[in-house]
Amino acid sequence: MDKLLITGLILAGGRGSRMGNVDKGLQPFRGKPMAQHAIERLLPQVGSVMVNANRNLEAWLELAAPVWADETPGFAGPLAGLEAGLIHCATPWLLAVPCDSPFLPLDLAERLAAAVEANDADLAYAVTQEAGMRPQPHPVFCLVKASRLPVLSQYLREGGRRMDGWYKELKAVEVAFEDADAFRNINTLDELQGLEQTAPPAPTLAQVVSCLSGYDPDALPVRDAQRIIREFVQPVRAVEQVALRAAFGRVLARDVVSPIDVPAHDNSAMDGFALRGADLRSDAPVTLRVIGTTFAGNAAAVVPAPGECVRIMTGGVMPEGCDSVVPQEFVSQEGDMITLPAGAIRPGDNRRFAGEDLRAGSPALKAGRVVRPADLGLLASLGIPEVAVQRRLRVAFFSTGDELRSVGEPLDEGCVYDSNRYTIYGMLQRLGCDIIDMGVVRDDPSVLEDTLRSACENADAIITSGGVSVGAADYTRQIMARLGDVTFWKIGMRPGRPLAFGRISSNGRSAFLFGLPGNPVAVMVSFYFFAREALLRMMGADAPLPLLRARSGGAIRKKPGRTEYQRGILARGADGEPEVRITGSQGSGILRSMSEANCMVVLHDEQGNVAAGDMVDIIPFEGLV
Ligand code: AMP
Ligand code: MG
Repeated sequence: MDKLLITGLILAGGRGSRMGNVDKGLQPFRGKPMAQHAIERLLPQVGSVMVNANRNLEAWLELAAPVWADETPGFAGPLAGLEAGLIHCATPWLLAVPCDSPFLPLDLAERLAAAVEANDADLAYAVTQEAGMRPQPHPVFCLVKASRLPVLSQYLREGGRRMDGWYKELKAVEVAFEDADAFRNINTLDELQGLEQTAPPAPTLAQVVSCLSGYDPDALPVRDAQRIIREFVQPVRAVEQVALRAAFGRVLARDVVSPIDVPAHDNSAMDGFALRGADLRSDAPVTLRVIGTTFAGNAAAVVPAPGECVRIMTGGVMPEGCDSVVPQEFVSQEGDMITLPAGAIRPGDNRRFAGEDLRAGSPALKAGRVVRPADLGLLASLGIPEVAVQRRLRVAFFSTGDELRSVGEPLDEGCVYDSNRYTIYGMLQRLGCDIIDMGVVRDDPSVLEDTLRSACENADAIITSGGVSVGAADYTRQIMARLGDVTFWKIGMRPGRPLAFGRISSNGRSAFLFGLPGNPVAVMVSFYFFAREALLRMMGADAPLPLLRARSGGAIRKKPGRTEYQRGILARGADGEPEVRITGSQGSGILRSMSEANCMVVLHDEQGNVAAGDMVDIIPFEGLV
């Protein structure tokens, strides 16, 4: 079922008697009114969301519109709210949820809709069943055919109040959901405060891993590793209010709702003449008298009568009565008269409507967006001086290895300069993190432990390089494992097979840990394909890697069964089409290949050898943002 066929309804019309008669859905919970959690989870599932409320209508209108009060008087319970919703429902289906269900399932609409379609039913509602318990129906979470309103009204008129009391007149089906917690509702202020203080429970790695079939830490496909990481990391919930320019590159913490219509008035899309569509003729030329001029920024003062028009500039406010603009190059002018050839334009042409770009009250930018230059401009065009952004993520990083020398030190026999701290610095800067550079750590257990502890106490995430490969000393594993929940993988990929991942704690503080391999290319590849997404997720950001396809300029050898990341140069081929060639040596220590490349060629697990001319997936390093 298309989601546009469903209107969402937040049931918020109750007295809140168990909460001391407060308007339950408006109580703050995790940084916003409780009902906003339900609205945000429902909105992506339906065409639009409306609210049933009987008090504080102004406050409700801030959260969603429209807001409808009960038609059946006397706080008659959720069914009266459902009735109000159905009366005003303009779509064939209505999906009701209570305002105090901040964890409602994200696939609620999809699954209820599938059930009504499969059973040709009038109504579907959720049930859950916990092990050894009786099934628990949740009739307030229901998808109802809007045309069944008369049945409900009749039931209410007869004094019926039970949420499922009217089902016997309908074809109603139950839909089983596995996660009972998703339907948890919050009835008392104590419950609210209790939940407020306990952060949502974080899963352990073992719990996350148990959802994967055939999990093998020594041969883990890239996509499984990415999935485990995605499910394990938790967003850092801290919001700050910053001035518009300071929001550049930051992550929006809340939706930005447009306070105004953009454009504010109907206006002209062309330099030309504003006229009445009724004056146009398709079969003969039309001559009109020009009675004045409107510039962009000037309110239209003149009101043309039939047979008259107004000279107008692009962006000029449409004069009253005018609905069309003829571009100036279409007309011939003599004195104050213009003549349009027959059928020069159609009524309504070249007019921009008020609110065409954005309607007042609609979201202009969504929470999770990384603010780009265009977004700054958009926010300015709405007159918004400051926005709520996520606080910057603090990331500590260090390199490990006795052979490493920091730049500036003499390069002793057999040593290499530490380059990973510089690539990691650059990649973290680009993500907009606050960084804590902890230098080079010698291969010494007690130094490593101290450094990890200190990193953990000061940062949200820790990135290390080196010391996780098979050849590396075992104490890394022991220390990391002792400090928390860390797992060591061999990933089916090249370069970058070894990876340590998890969460460590020290003195009551915890941080997510990414133990990247030491090889200079491997460290970058592992960062881009594992750490990057996880860090963005911690920042509350929504920024998927852009995946493109291009023709391969040459043959590439590739073994099926692992993902290969080859460094590529994307350019135009002889025929002008995009073509990618891999850079010379692809060895995992050869940083020059990374520096020369402008994209990464991603060869997936199942793929084998690539022939010249085959299409391959690429990820460009730079993008116009
Ligand atoms: P490891 O993972 O510690 O066994 O290191 C693998 C390879 O990467 C070795 O050749 C290291 O010398 C090299 N390597 C490790 N860390 C760095 C670093 N920070 N900068 C440059 N090369 C490194
Ligand atoms: Mg090492």
